[in-house]
Amino acid sequence: MSPDTPQAPRGTQDVLGELAAGFHLVEEAARRRFEPAGFRRIETPAFEDTALFARGVGESTDVVQKEMYTFTDAGGRSLTLRPEGTASVARAYLEHGMHKLPQPVKLWYLSSFFRYEKPQAGRYRQFWQIGVEAIGSEDPAVDAEVIVLLATLLDDLEARGIRLRIASLGTPETRAAYRSELQAHLRTHADQLSEEVRGRIDLNPLRAFDSDHSGTREVMRTAPLLVDRLTEDDRAHFDAVLAMLDAADVPYEIDPTLVRGLDYYTRTVFEFTSDALGAQSGVGGGGRYDGLIELIGGAPTPGVGWAAGIERILLAAGGVPAADTPADLFVAYEPGRRADAFTVVTHTRRAGRAAQMELAGRSLKGQLKQAGRSGARFVAVLREDGSVLQDTETNDEVPMERDADGIVAAVLRNLGI
Ligand code: AMP
Repeated sequence: MSPDTPQAPRGTQDVLGELAAGFHLVEEAARRRFEPAGFRRIETPAFEDTALFARGVGESTDVVQKEMYTFTDAGGRSLTLRPEGTASVARAYLEHGMHKLPQPVKLWYLSSFFRYEKPQAGRYRQFWQIGVEAIGSEDPAVDAEVIVLLATLLDDLEARGIRLRIASLGTPETRAAYRSELQAHLRTHADQLSEEVRGRIDLNPLRAFDSDHSGTREVMRTAPLLVDRLTEDDRAHFDAVLAMLDAADVPYEIDPTLVRGLDYYTRTVFEFTSDALGAQSGVGGGGRYDGLIELIGGAPTPGVGWAAGIERILLAAGGVPAADTPADLFVAYEPGRRADAFTVVTHTRRAGRAAQMELAGRSLKGQLKQAGRSGARFVAVLREDGSVLQDTETNDEVPMERDADGIVAAVLRNLGI
């Protein structure tokens, strides 16, 4: 490879081989669990108006401030590659008048997302998420339903060391009052804080809980906690969610310092982590976003959902067994029988069976080796002077008629069609 041969951009990767098989497995498991629970598939555009994310995700968030792939298109519009799914799904809910449907509207997606982050193990600039959103109900049963769904999916996929942390952020009013109280606490102890935390007291004081800085951690030990400031309604909502998780036997830890990176969360927030992962231990997370739809121009509409990283789920599951479908039939041939070989493969495939033929100009001997590697049950050998069908299980070899139609008939008969 010459040094100027293009390579995949930093922080991206090709999905192939075992990873592609893993993606398939996750998608199948998700469909199996989500569709019977009433979730329908949605795919939104890979890019949206920048304003959607600026308003929907929040100007003060890391995602909007530092991580968006924003560009101006040839028509002069500011567009952004989607950094997450919820704002786009909320936009689609509004755009398609889904409030007229029976509520809540339940949707799921599996898409790739883009964030300009520092790449490391389990962290990419293009990554894949599977996610669900349930929009139009504030019933705590919906919170519990989506959480149980993710717990079940992770269980199905045998993700290891999974832990669920949960908290409630209350309503925006509670949060605003709490925010001021927390800011006052941080200002009182400003000299002990890290420079970064001090610089963000106005913009995002909650982030102080995330800090590794020892002085900051000390200050946070005595900081007021939002869970202690919830209104009666919010507390009752949170308690109801927890009671349903208990009833569903989904274990959790209440974590009063849980901070989600996005601005739109209200009431329930949660995060699933895996002890099997390194620094990037977050497998999936989400919460309630009762203010989001209003923020992007709709009537006040509650919603709850989560997103989980597919690469992280697979890392937590410790890989997947390669599940190549073995061929039913491999067709080997001498050069003069190439067209017949093609006919046999095509008809066998049309009949719904897995057939492969020689495609790389190997000698007949090489082809038979390749047939062995393919794991095919039957091998049709088309010679100039006649054809045979080998059964690799019994080692039987039966002659077939010379013409392609006769061979197809014999193959399909042997495949039980
Ligand atoms: P978030 O949308 O930030 O709440 O992230 C939800 C989940 O998506 C995380 O728990 C990760 O599993 C996954 N995720 C987020 N950002 C990345 C990234 N840059 N690379 C890989 N996975 C990610």
